[in-house]
Amino acid sequence: MSAASDHLVSRFPAGGVAGMQAPCPSPTGEALGLEAISHNFDAITAAQDINLSVQPEELLCLLGPSGCGKTTLLRFAAGLERPQAGRVRVGNQLMSDAQDRTWVPPEQRHVGLVFQDAVLFPHLNVIDNVGFGLPKVSARERAQRARALLAQLGLAPFAESFPHVLSGGQQQRVALARALAPAPRIMLLDEPFSGLDARLRDRIRDDTLHLLKRNGTATLLVTHDPEEALFMADRIAVMRDGKIIQQGHPTDIYCRPVDPFVVRFFGDVNEMRGVVMDGRVDTPIGPVAAGHIADGTAVQVLIRPEALNVEKLAGPRDHSGSHVLMSRLLGGASFIHLCVHQGNDEYHMHAHMPGVFLPEREDPIAVHLDPTQAFVFPL
Ligand code: ATP
Repeated sequence: MSAASDHLVSRFPAGGVAGMQAPCPSPTGEALGLEAISHNFDAITAAQDINLSVQPEELLCLLGPSGCGKTTLLRFAAGLERPQAGRVRVGNQLMSDAQDRTWVPPEQRHVGLVFQDAVLFPHLNVIDNVGFGLPKVSARERAQRARALLAQLGLAPFAESFPHVLSGGQQQRVALARALAPAPRIMLLDEPFSGLDARLRDRIRDDTLHLLKRNGTATLLVTHDPEEALFMADRIAVMRDGKIIQQGHPTDIYCRPVDPFVVRFFGDVNEMRGVVMDGRVDTPIGPVAAGHIADGTAVQVLIRPEALNVEKLAGPRDHSGSHVLMSRLLGGASFIHLCVHQGNDEYHMHAHMPGVFLPEREDPIAVHLDPTQAFVFPL
């Protein structure tokens, strides 16, 4: 089956999956709770005093670079690994407590798991793969629920097919349907889209988001892709070196980053240094407010490319003024390399402008700053 048939996916009908129970409510109001989790692998600190909770119906993204400890936390939640310190709760139930050695095995935790590679049972057809997690219901009900989920994922025509005839994207959707079928208390998704090509990935992300939301499924999604986190998440927790650096609404994380690492993690930034004077720091494109940082403090200033609004000036280039080095169309935005002057110094900066805005090399420009996307941190 070609990947093209992935485009058969229809938009979802209103409402959740018929015959599927709502996820179990929790008296603590938490679908998943990780409390004071710490864990080392020899010299590597994979988790250091992690406190994280996923609320019912919430989609929380755990975002961070490779090796920061995201998968390890997901494995603790699933019961695939025992943390050396701390507690794990799923719904109202304590699943593990390193102190009193409480331990509930994975198969009793009522969690759904999907990894990067869909691992389907090759000897079972699609409908039996999806129904596999429902052994306690009648065969009729099992098939009914599986078909309802497959229909929601545009996979109804493949119900009788075997995994080897499905594309990667279709297999990943079957894995998602299989994990969702038993109405888990929490879905744990570990980079489930990273093995797919870009267009298919966008489509399956979108389908997955709608499916999870329609069914009110609390979800912990692990990703290293900031765009994916912004697209999917109700809340984001940013991780580095086994620690959670910042957690909050995606807008808070993007617009009020707590440190340079969080700013840089979301993409290209223009970086410069300066000293705070009169509550602000001078940059080649104008002063930036320094917030609560005291005068005289040496700081770094990070300015996102979209904070630079480029205006093309008429007439020939004035050699002390800013000019264009190069411009490229990225699709929905244009990327402009700028040369900006401050005194005798020249700075190479990057600007993003919406739509098609492609000034020529050497064109004179004025650069205006959006202060909401400029961040100042003490050095
Ligand atoms: P990626 O995005 O690459 O999957 P991650 O953020 O999910 O990375 P983890 O897989 O949780 O990171 O790993 C965190 C650290 O712990 C890494 O340095 C990894 O090498 C180490 N680690 C994970 N599992 C084990 C293990 N079983 N034994 C030894 N080291 C491990």
